[in-house]
Amino acid sequence: MRWIFAAAVCACLAAGGARAAHPAESPTRKLYDELNALRVDPAHVYHVREFALRRDAVRVAFESGTLGLLEPFHGRVLGAVFSGSAEVLATPRDPAEKISLSRFLGTPLLDTPVSKVHLRFTDGTAEEIESYLQSAGAKPVNEPEFVSDWNAVLPSLNPAFSLRTLRDLDSPSPLPFFQAMLVDSRHGVFEVSVDDRRPEQVLMGQVRYREGGRYYDLWAMFPRASGAGHPEPAEPVRYTIDTTVQDDLQLKGHTKIVMQALRDGERIIPLILSRGLKVQSVTDVSGQPLDFFQNEDLSEKEVLRRGDDLFFVVLPAPTKAGQEITWDVTYSGSVITDAGNGVFYVGDRGAWYPHPNETTHFCDYDMTFRWPRKLNLVATGKRTEEHEDGEWRVAHWVSDEPMILAAFNLGNYSQASADAGPVHITVNANQELEQALVGLFRPRPGMALAPGPAGWRRTSDVWRSANLTAAALPPPPAAVIGHLATDIGDAVRNMEQWNGPFPFARLEVSPLPAAEGQSWPGLIYLSTLTFVPKAEQRRAGIAERATFSFSDLMPFHELAHQWWGNLAAYASYRDEWIMEALANYCALLYLDTRRPDEHTMARALEAYRSDLLSSVPDGPETADEIGPLALGQRLNSSLAPDGFARVIYPKATWVVHMLRLMLQDPKAKDPDARFRGLLHTLLEKHRYAALSEEDLRREVSRIMTPEMDLESMHSMDWFFEEWVHATGIPHFSATYKVSEAGREYLVHGTLRQKGVPEAFLARVPLYRGNGGEKPVLLGWVVTSGHETPFRFRSTVKPDRILIDPGQTLLDVTH
Ligand SMILES: [Zn+2]
Repeated sequence: MRWIFAAAVCACLAAGGARAAHPAESPTRKLYDELNALRVDPAHVYHVREFALRRDAVRVAFESGTLGLLEPFHGRVLGAVFSGSAEVLATPRDPAEKISLSRFLGTPLLDTPVSKVHLRFTDGTAEEIESYLQSAGAKPVNEPEFVSDWNAVLPSLNPAFSLRTLRDLDSPSPLPFFQAMLVDSRHGVFEVSVDDRRPEQVLMGQVRYREGGRYYDLWAMFPRASGAGHPEPAEPVRYTIDTTVQDDLQLKGHTKIVMQALRDGERIIPLILSRGLKVQSVTDVSGQPLDFFQNEDLSEKEVLRRGDDLFFVVLPAPTKAGQEITWDVTYSGSVITDAGNGVFYVGDRGAWYPHPNETTHFCDYDMTFRWPRKLNLVATGKRTEEHEDGEWRVAHWVSDEPMILAAFNLGNYSQASADAGPVHITVNANQELEQALVGLFRPRPGMALAPGPAGWRRTSDVWRSANLTAAALPPPPAAVIGHLATDIGDAVRNMEQWNGPFPFARLEVSPLPAAEGQSWPGLIYLSTLTFVPKAEQRRAGIAERATFSFSDLMPFHELAHQWWGNLAAYASYRDEWIMEALANYCALLYLDTRRPDEHTMARALEAYRSDLLSSVPDGPETADEIGPLALGQRLNSSLAPDGFARVIYPKATWVVHMLRLMLQDPKAKDPDARFRGLLHTLLEKHRYAALSEEDLRREVSRIMTPEMDLESMHSMDWFFEEWVHATGIPHFSATYKVSEAGREYLVHGTLRQKGVPEAFLARVPLYRGNGGEKPVLLGWVVTSGHETPFRFRSTVKPDRILIDPGQTLLDVTH
């Protein structure tokens, strides 16, 4: 699933604006070109001092230096540049944002002197500068060097702002932005911006490079204090997608999108489409060609980290809220990768057809595919018809439930199937493993470490040791599909007990040549390594933990995403952890039921705890300190390129585990009735809709037990603030004394809490241990501060005190 920041960022490092050739210069394109050509107006350069601009939590103060206005654009000033001595100050309000800023800057606020400032805006900045110049009695000065210095960089800066600016200029009800690109000696080039088109309008961050990778380090992002953002101009209603996959795997596509405008006055609507596909035309409902911009907004492109690109369609007239807009988009190009040996991969996740960059709209889909007859093709939805047409195969799919995204996969498949009640499951496997994996099964004398197949993602943990004497023959992927189909059928029945009926009438499983899985409505992709028996994976030198992940966890994690992701979807990037947590937790619950003696859940939680406490390469910190769960994909940065995976899976799984244990009633017939009820309620209330942390918080607070109410406010805020919006894992230790009190013993002492802020609350169980006896609960201590006294009575004199021996908390005990 995807997300991006609709951010305008420092593009000064990018060379020039990419331009697609367009036959006719439309009025919008002409304006766009004019915006790209803006330069400093030599007649409007001033010496300024002690002038400040304030936008929400951001303050840019110009102490002394030279300020030049950009040439007016149709009478309006849309930018200014400054060289001299200035200062930028920005303070996030949210604690998680302060943590984030601290990680990048070392302080929870941005306060730094800068020498150069590039300002772009569609808000009232021009008027503010004008009124300052008047009140200061500033007179234009002749500074040819200042002008030529800035004019040398403006051609590469402008394209980052031109489309964003046009969206406001073209609109009768603009949603303005203010952006400052700044240069200082410590951080280099960075930006602060306030943009009303973002759901979280205030942003600070910068582009960074690390080991050949390009990252957008988002230091902080949060909503402005007054007024909500208006991120979406329109939402999709219906798609009709026609796709031809040619013999050479080139894709030719035609998508009719019906959207509904959410606001008045929008003329330019952004969509995403893979950069591998080139848009040929966009026409409206009457067949009139519409102007569009593809891959021309550098600002948006800079922050795309998942390979999707934006393209913008220009409407002939501004939108009216509620109005239906219909477009036909024609495109072609390459999104299908040939991994060798007949193994294919449809890349760029959902961007093989154009759609808005949003994950929360469930729509109807009607899809027709035409592909080479020798291949099999699987897709989301219900296949209503399939026939051969010469060398081609043609088939038609419709969604019988609303879908959040559509997907397809193809290959030369062997198939096995199973039924789980009314759900029909088909597992598709390639005839051979892709070329990169075949290499793993060949002897590699002299190699110390298997490098991992080229093009595979997240491989660091996979290729830990190489088996130098591995046999030459790789196993056929189809060997396991019978078992896989049966196991998935078994898991569907198990997960239905937790989550309710499987959301789709059928489930297709197909291979993906990568170290990851994906889950689409009624269609899951599993790593091709899932199709290799565990013994063979070991023979190829794949680490034991990775083998567990491919063979045991991934099929069921992706299966659980059918509910958590495809029936309910996360509302924003801040809520993605909920889907990952519940998918992972359901998979572990299933594995625990299937093989109770293996204690998979307990072992996985233990491994996750040590993952979170282990140090991260190139950093003194623990994985937990990379950042709070609420930062979602922002955890991936130049400081921690795989931060998301390192934090989200282990910590979010623990968060759900702690919630389940708190909700458990060991004396009840169904001890998990409350947790089960929670999952049902969430899926019922957010069926084909978005689910946010706020929704989860509210539902948990509704069913919480009195013991969970640590703040006595009938709220679970303490829990979510500690575990989702902050970092830190508590370390507990206890000192105590035992004294005789009549027939009983009095145990009194102090529970120490370290590694978390003073205000951290936890409900910690203390047990007594006696010889080889099973530990006996003495009672609970609700921590407040670094030291909390406790006092318990016991009929037996304890040999020792045990802190949370059942490991109900993500903690470290001494
Ligand atoms: Zn997942």
